[in-house]
Amino acid sequence: MSKDALTGPIYVATTNEHKAREIAEILADTGLDIRPAPALPEVVEDGETFRDNALLKARSAAEALGAPALADDSGLAVDVLGGDPGVRSARFAGEGADAQANNALLVERLTALGVTDPAAAFVCHVVIVVPGGEIVAEAEGRVEGLIRWPEQGDRGFGYDPLFFHPPSGCRMAELAPEAKNAISHRGVALRLLAQRLRESP
Ligand code: IMP
Repeated sequence: MSKDALTGPIYVATTNEHKAREIAEILADTGLDIRPAPALPEVVEDGETFRDNALLKARSAAEALGAPALADDSGLAVDVLGGDPGVRSARFAGEGADAQANNALLVERLTALGVTDPAAAFVCHVVIVVPGGEIVAEAEGRVEGLIRWPEQGDRGFGYDPLFFHPPSGCRMAELAPEAKNAISHRGVALRLLAQRLRESP
């Protein structure tokens, strides 16, 4: 589907204001009218992939608002754990678990396997759909790294203190916000989406 379907506002399907603002900033030069969603229905994120969940959120918002919607889904995938925590990143240690509990469980699992510096990636899938569900544009971003413990750094959130990024030579949680945005899975996915929108007829 072409960008022509996106003449009016496009609503960002997230309740996280910081994320909505960051998305609007990165997509500013596409000329699209990106706005935070005024209200969103509850969505059960029970997809098996980041793409499934991004689509669930975007389609639900587009239906509810009667307008195009943009959604993302992201998380951490650890190779030696078969891609876990994956789509369960936010609730790895159980429904409502906080980052401390999720990180502790990740370290416990990896310690039990006796591995050193296991490879991992942060992944983000972002998609724009119109009411009716058709996809206008989508993109996926990844950032590769290694899981190291104990935790280091007090910036960022989630698994950042355990994620060593080799090109930066430090944990994600030790990077300034601008430095993280420049390399992060979300930044990569959104810039690729912006490029696809700019190049689309
Ligand atoms: P969301 O889809 O952006 O809400 O992310 C889901 C979960 O993935 C978060 O609750 C975190 O556990 C993890 N996650 C996603 N992005 C990051 C990141 O940039 N750093 C650390 N953890 C992240």
